[in-house]
Amino acid sequence: MDPSRTYDVLVLGGGNAALTAAITARRTGVSVLVLECAPKGLRGGNSRHTRNLRCMHDRPSDVLTEAYPEDEYWQDLVRVTKGKTDEHLARITIRQSTDCRAWMVQHGVRFQPSLRGTLHLSRTNAFFLGGGKALVNAYYRAAEDLGIEVAYDTEVRDLNFRDGQIVTAIVAQHGATREVRARTVVAAAGGFESNLGWLKEAWGDVADNFLVRGTPYNMGRVLRVLIDKGVKPVGDPTQCHAVACDARAPKFDAGIITRVDAISLGIVVNKHAARFYDEGEDFWPKRYAIWGRLVAGQPDQIAFVLIDAKAMGSFVPPVYPPIRASSVRELAQAVNLDPATLERSVAAFNRSVRPGTFNHAILDDCATVNLTPPKSHWARPLDAPPFFAYPLRPGITFTYLAVRVNDRAQVMMQDDKPAANIFAAGEIMAGNILGEGYLAGIGMTIGTVFGRIAGREAARHVLG
Ligand SMILES: Cc1cc2nc3c(=O)[nH]c(=O)nc-3n(C[C@H](O)[C@H](O)[C@H](O)COP(=O)(O)OP(=O)(O)OC[C@H]3O[C@@H](n4cnc5c(N)ncnc54)[C@H](O)[C@@H]3O)c2cc1C
Repeated sequence: MDPSRTYDVLVLGGGNAALTAAITARRTGVSVLVLECAPKGLRGGNSRHTRNLRCMHDRPSDVLTEAYPEDEYWQDLVRVTKGKTDEHLARITIRQSTDCRAWMVQHGVRFQPSLRGTLHLSRTNAFFLGGGKALVNAYYRAAEDLGIEVAYDTEVRDLNFRDGQIVTAIVAQHGATREVRARTVVAAAGGFESNLGWLKEAWGDVADNFLVRGTPYNMGRVLRVLIDKGVKPVGDPTQCHAVACDARAPKFDAGIITRVDAISLGIVVNKHAARFYDEGEDFWPKRYAIWGRLVAGQPDQIAFVLIDAKAMGSFVPPVYPPIRASSVRELAQAVNLDPATLERSVAAFNRSVRPGTFNHAILDDCATVNLTPPKSHWARPLDAPPFFAYPLRPGITFTYLAVRVNDRAQVMMQDDKPAANIFAAGEIMAGNILGEGYLAGIGMTIGTVFGRIAGREAARHVLG
């Protein structure tokens, strides 16, 4: 990082959206500096934890089966967001997801066929070989080959505006404060999910019991600065992607391996040993992202998923072993639930199960009758010992409060005019498309599509 230079494109952040924008801009010949607040070994934000992206496609390809047309993708998005999405930006994301993979491969990302497992994603989602870490490493290699400069351990603290344009960024690097000059800026510094104070401001005390699944570096500093300087926000600060994580997970950065995918195969109870939501409402990829909020709504933000021997082997096991017991009563004692109440809850559930043909790959006919809440699919009595429990906490993945953007990835100001030289991509603008809910793999799709748009438009602004 050379403080005497004026960089053509200054990219704030060092994850998928940032690197996609940086590479795209640099390929037009402009100079690019990436500011990543993490040290090199932890670079890549939440992107390094990912596994796949969701792609529209008209026919089977190397790693995707059948077809996933625009309209089905759009309908899936409308369903999960309950219509809280910007259709224009969403359709751009969906359409441009088609050629993301070719671009990614061109820059060193490799794909693999999806593994058989609980997520039913082989038709819709392309999986990165080696996961997000390999993707991030490939992009940094490509960036280096292209002559992109990267400053690690460099936190963007402030942005200076002149006549509605950003002219410099104030950064903290190795204990010193520096000013970096730029002609354009791409903001790709994630949401505020790692900022425990901000989460508490939005959620109240329940946030104390949240686990942050990803990077500890997404503190929302760039988001806050942009909003404070007159950029128009979009979205609700309590809306986010949050899953049910193993309660024994560390506070930050545990990644995918603590997500508990057994919910649709069993029942979930709160600390009063009472069920509170339909565990079999829909396929797991369409429902896993609501369970963080559901657990957050329970007393002390703790819950337990209970399964029996029949379910073992049918879901991807999380890193922590389940708590095991030979009876429901013993299991209750092991996880500190009232044994009599848990036995009653399980007995009531078992009595209400209507016989059917269990098939986890379809919305089967195994459902409860006359039970509140119901279990709509995959309901089987819990009667085959041993019994198992996983304790659950809300695990926040990323927040949806965002900066408003237009279809050129330009950040919109309070007066609804685009800021001439500020572009945004990834989590920091994903809330334009995700007002609530989530569709597995769309986070990386939004980051890749808008990263490319932001990089192209930033370079175009410089080149005139
Ligand atoms: C465990 C886990 C699994 C996931 N799996 C998937 C998946 O399989 N598919 C999918 O689509 N999505 C997945 N997601 C969501 C996905 O990670 C995000 O949607 C996507 O990575 C967002 O990319 P991004 O570049 O916007 O943010 P990030 O990758 O988080 O990058 C943000 C970057 O900004 C940097 N930064 C933050 N603040 C500053 C600052 N002030 N100054 C300088 N730099 C700063 C951070 O260090 C980081 O490098 C997953 C998330 C998690 C946590």
